[in-house]
Amino acid sequence: MSTADSEPAEWDVAVVGGGPAGCSAGVFTAREGLDTVIFDRGRSSLRRCAHLENYLGFPGGIDVETFYALAHDHAEEAGCDVVEDLVESVERAGDGFVLERQSGERVRATRVVAATRYDADYLRPLDDAGEMYETHEHGGEEHEHFDRTYADGDGRTPVDGLYVASPVEEWSTQALAVAGFGALVGGHVVGDARRDRGYPEGLAERVDWLRREAALDEEWADPDRWREYFDEHVPEDHDLSDEQLAALRDAEASDRLDRYVDEETVERRRREAHDRILEHLDDERIRAYLDRTGD
Ligand SMILES: Cc1cc2nc3c(=O)[nH]c(=O)nc-3n(C[C@H](O)[C@H](O)[C@H](O)COP(=O)(O)OP(=O)(O)OC[C@H]3O[C@@H](n4cnc5c(N)ncnc54)[C@H](O)[C@@H]3O)c2cc1C
Repeated sequence: MSTADSEPAEWDVAVVGGGPAGCSAGVFTAREGLDTVIFDRGRSSLRRCAHLENYLGFPGGIDVETFYALAHDHAEEAGCDVVEDLVESVERAGDGFVLERQSGERVRATRVVAATRYDADYLRPLDDAGEMYETHEHGGEEHEHFDRTYADGDGRTPVDGLYVASPVEEWSTQALAVAGFGALVGGHVVGDARRDRGYPEGLAERVDWLRREAALDEEWADPDRWREYFDEHVPEDHDLSDEQLAALRDAEASDRLDRYVDEETVERRRREAHDRILEHLDDERIRAYLDRTGD
């Protein structure tokens, strides 16, 4: 995880908004090793919810405060810096962006993910083409708001390097749905960053999977088989040098094999995961549960 001391001069990814959409996108980008910062402050949709009852995995629902703490903890565990500050504007700076924070600080980022259900005004400096906002009439007055169809179905926008995880038509009205869309957008950010690093089409987009070592057969336990697999997917018209290709091939082979874990690791991770959840639960509730069950 990046810390204030080791903050990069330019973040790979800056996510504006640490709700379900933004945290989810950040988990996917940071797990790929992209330096990711999430800014989170200001008007929140989720904080207006009384109790979140329809987010999968919480049969009794989950109070919003605990949900936020879990989501931010998860984003930080994945490697994100979560910064409690409002982003006031995002401007173009060369191939990347400069974000102006309410604190007055300015930070640079190669890619920006907008993830704020309300208030996307901070994107106005990027709206050269006048396509980001739309006007509608309400109570006899004209109002302008962010066009929820501005991004395409993958969260990409006409501004190179700018993605929108929220607000987007259809996805933003339920927390679980927008978290899913945030994951999809985060995955595409990763894919585009890998394309920039030279990964050929067909290998750029990757799945974030952890697999059991027992499922690894002899053929695929051999790194050379993954190198071969890599070569099978490289198009003939690539423009990489032999050295670049060899480096990516080796990186891909070790990345693929690193994704397999033994049963001991699976069991250790299970225990650690349970402990991590316990940290977020009310001690009184844990005691009451143990008293009730007699454990
Ligand atoms: C009253 C109410 C009840 C709801 N109940 C449910 C429910 O029961 N179940 C359900 O699934 N959905 C519910 N929703 C909808 C749910 O809240 C949204 O679908 C979901 O929160 C959208 O997530 P998001 O990440 O897009 O935006 P948000 O939840 O709004 O998160 C955006 C985050 O970005 C931060 N932010 C905003 N602007 C900036 C900025 N400029 N710079 C930095 N940070 C910024 C905010 O502080 C916020 O934390 C409810 C909504 C409301 C209003």
